[in-house]
Amino acid sequence: MSPSESYVPTAREKAFLDSVENPKYDRESINGLNPFLNEKAPKDVLNFYSQDELNALKSLKGTERDIETRMPVKLTRHYFELAKNSRAIQAIVKAQPSETENLMGSEDPGYQMDYSPVEGLLHKYEMGLMYVVSTCSAHCRFCYREELISRKEVERQDGTVAKKGLAQIPDVIGYVHRHNREVDPSTGLHPETGREKLREILMSGGDPMVLSNSKIAAWLGALAEAGIESIRIGTKELAFFPQRFDDAFLKMMDRFHETYPDVGVRLMIHFNHPDEFLVKDADGNYIEEASGILKWHPATKKAMDGLTARGWIAIENQSPIIKNVNDDPDALRIMQRAIKRVGANNHYFFCGRDIIAHHAFNVPIERAWQVLNESQKGLSGVETHARLSITHYKGKTEVAAVTNGPLAGIPGTENGVVIFKILRNAADAKDRGKVCIVARNPNAIWFDGYADRVIYDEAGLFDYARVKKAPATKMA
Ligand code: SF4
Repeated sequence: MSPSESYVPTAREKAFLDSVENPKYDRESINGLNPFLNEKAPKDVLNFYSQDELNALKSLKGTERDIETRMPVKLTRHYFELAKNSRAIQAIVKAQPSETENLMGSEDPGYQMDYSPVEGLLHKYEMGLMYVVSTCSAHCRFCYREELISRKEVERQDGTVAKKGLAQIPDVIGYVHRHNREVDPSTGLHPETGREKLREILMSGGDPMVLSNSKIAAWLGALAEAGIESIRIGTKELAFFPQRFDDAFLKMMDRFHETYPDVGVRLMIHFNHPDEFLVKDADGNYIEEASGILKWHPATKKAMDGLTARGWIAIENQSPIIKNVNDDPDALRIMQRAIKRVGANNHYFFCGRDIIAHHAFNVPIERAWQVLNESQKGLSGVETHARLSITHYKGKTEVAAVTNGPLAGIPGTENGVVIFKILRNAADAKDRGKVCIVARNPNAIWFDGYADRVIYDEAGLFDYARVKKAPATKMA
């Protein structure tokens, strides 16, 4: 199928799509700073910003430090209610002038456009990632997709400059067929890129859960028909608007599972802090049920119960560790324990990426490791599955260890070392498992903070050359 061809669902797919219901959802979203500046937001929401805060943000409008040019403001009613009693949640969605004090950073973090064989699809690892939408129900200030959500123009490999486009079903399905057809059956690898069959795809953005059930279903059906074995949906909607996981959505998922029982579904959820799902009393303490279990917000618990009851949906939480949000071992300990207890998993914690303005959000790498390590003391093995990853341009890299003492006889290591290990490596993953050891720098928030203190680098983290072109796949 060529990209210009339209996509025709199969009869089985059509029967699934015809069964989908599309309720309307009212998230009572506040879009942008203007509703606050013009006092058009609901009265009780107006006090989310003080007049001084609004004046400071207003003074930056139209300048190169304009807060909303970097990242638009967006908030749901549900999240506002949670934020009223949580400084951590306020820090996630409340714009601050400090965000644009230092605008250093990459306009295309991870050089993602180097791995985009068709618009809106990234094929970096053995799996693919699609941008299916460019917004979420609310916007995290630290978002590492700020370039997509702000619709910024980024440079492509061919030197052209354009906004990142969204994935389209005919293009993506055509690519999946072409790539998988070219995989050599005798080696199981693509002859040019060394990649395996494309068998897993992540629907991302933005948040796919802001799309209608029909649009989500259209992607699910098309990917399943193309032979994708496992489909991921990346979403923060359990935090922003858990009511979205209603009967109509779950019914659609059930119909999908009945139609394609062999296709795995993985919901990659995004809780940053327990305040996003646990109920607090007037003193700010989490409320315990009679059983001693911490009480979940009823709407979030209902959504989570609906998902975990379907054992064929895997639920995996992943979260960056962000300054003033969750760089707090106690909060992370409570969160990991509570998530595992209801039947979801703790997948990854991340160090912040080198997005534009990352200095405003990133916790030093060594501090993030210490926070996570401290948080996991006293937790059981199954509660501590999450590793700390930092996304190097080569791929996901674990911050595996931070030592306090020197490596005997090795100059430069007097204050200890950091050990990185490549977990997921682009293309044919040839460097997976390789390590890099650097002398400590407690202030480093990105790899460049270690550039002058590399001790050993079999992983090649400090010898990175940008890939020349997107993986070639012949057109049909
Ligand atoms: S939910 Fe994810 S994609 Fe959406 S604004 Fe937050 S970090 Fe960005």
